[in-house]
Amino acid sequence: MNQPYRIESFIGGDYIAGAGEAFTLIDPSNEAEIASYREAGEALARQAHEAAQKGGAAWRKLSASARGAILFELGRLVRRDAEILAQAESHIAGKPIRDCRAEVAKVADMFTYYAGWADKIEGRVVPVPTSHLNVVEREPLGTIVQMTPWNAPIFTAGWQIAPALAAGNAVILKPSEWTPVTSVMLAALAREAGVPAGALNVLVGGARTGAALVDNPLCGKAVFIGSVATGRKVAALAGSAGRPALLELGGKSANVIFADCDLARAVKAAQGAIFAAAGQSCTAGSRLLVERSVHDIVVNALKDAASRLRVGLPRDDATEIGPLHSARQFERISGMIGRAREAGAALVAGGARPGGLSSGYFLAPTILADAKPGMEIFDEEIFGPVLAVTPFDHEDEAIALANAGEFDLAGAVWSGQGTRAIRVARALRAGSVWINGYRTLSVQSPFGGMRGSGFGRSSGHDVLLEYTQPKSIWIETDDHAPIAFGYDVLKQ
Ligand code: NAD
Repeated sequence: MNQPYRIESFIGGDYIAGAGEAFTLIDPSNEAEIASYREAGEALARQAHEAAQKGGAAWRKLSASARGAILFELGRLVRRDAEILAQAESHIAGKPIRDCRAEVAKVADMFTYYAGWADKIEGRVVPVPTSHLNVVEREPLGTIVQMTPWNAPIFTAGWQIAPALAAGNAVILKPSEWTPVTSVMLAALAREAGVPAGALNVLVGGARTGAALVDNPLCGKAVFIGSVATGRKVAALAGSAGRPALLELGGKSANVIFADCDLARAVKAAQGAIFAAAGQSCTAGSRLLVERSVHDIVVNALKDAASRLRVGLPRDDATEIGPLHSARQFERISGMIGRAREAGAALVAGGARPGGLSSGYFLAPTILADAKPGMEIFDEEIFGPVLAVTPFDHEDEAIALANAGEFDLAGAVWSGQGTRAIRVARALRAGSVWINGYRTLSVQSPFGGMRGSGFGRSSGHDVLLEYTQPKSIWIETDDHAPIAFGYDVLKQ
């Protein structure tokens, strides 16, 4: 097979081929083989940890401002190679090229943003009741192991690498075994920008490689972005060895529409909320809760809009919805649609492969009405272009429906009444909530979930707290201070 991409691990500044399990990447838009490679495996996981020890030390030897300058340069290189990165991402992940361009631009912004933070991570002085100067420094954790999913490979890589490096850590990233290409490209760009060899390593492979990285005593923290089941396994593995973890997991976000909102805007946003990225997004607004008096108007408008969305090949500039990522996802989601209908949900739109696309894992934008708690389609993350619609009669019912289930990642409320919009937004159990909008995300603002959606926060200043730990340093300032045998008796 012609190998169009270099799919090897990037360890200590060099490409190293794996000798583990073989993986073959399939183009989701036409089911053709793209490339194959061998997984890094346990031996390269150990090698990566050793490289990260050395690379991390070299990284921390630089001044914080020098580290910031290198991250700033990395942002510039990502902008320089933006089109190459976006094309590769679109090819491997099967995502529309317009989405990939937007995501690569965001990755560049992430490095620029955290470049600014690198020399602004400050400690504090605590006014303790003794003669000490008590200085609290925030120090890096050492080597961060990051595992990322297939649905937004370069976006999630940049999202976690940038703050981890800015805080002075070394990083070993393991992208999804199905989408490793752009993460390896990013590691090579980091080296070109001046990140010392070993400070950022990317290992290609799947569960075996990921588990070996987390299980290593040199792992300072396990950062996992992916499914609930795997996330819990990774957190258990980290926890059993006494290592901290951060989990960014799935979602089943509720988009709540009250009759008094601007319905045209709400309908437009509801389409993007679920159908963008073919619904393969953790923040997808996959549950639409609509006040009963406008339910039929909203559903009909969405049905009409769904028929006009452009489903097509990822490389076409006009494509709004690309294929699902794999045959497995196509089968899984088709099964969920069938079971939803058997359970009493009404198929309003889609439900099958759209006409005109004979190969690839394409699924037409799908709308299912009459979804209820207890139905799989209402409770479980689908991760596809499938919207479950549920009517409600009053505000308390809307809040109860929105908060049903185990996911607490995101949500939205649409209302023309400011007091109600704010009241409901505050009552929703979710890490991010939008009022009269959906999915606006910025690297400047914290993002993350609770319960089934994970724990810890990414983005903004908050993630720097995840990637550093406080160290309390007690400096005696009185040469004649009494030396206590046990604890000091503190003068309050
Ligand atoms: P996944 O759980 O199958 O895999 C995620 C990563 O974990 C991959 O790199 C995989 O190789 C690795 N992995 C698998 N088993 C492992 C093990 N035993 N030890 C260590 N690593 C292991 O998830 P996926 O199917 O790639 O991604 C889809 C999921 O990701 C969805 O549920 C989606 O909601 C979630 N997601 C969440 C966010 C967020 O920020 N909350 C963002 C994007 C995606």
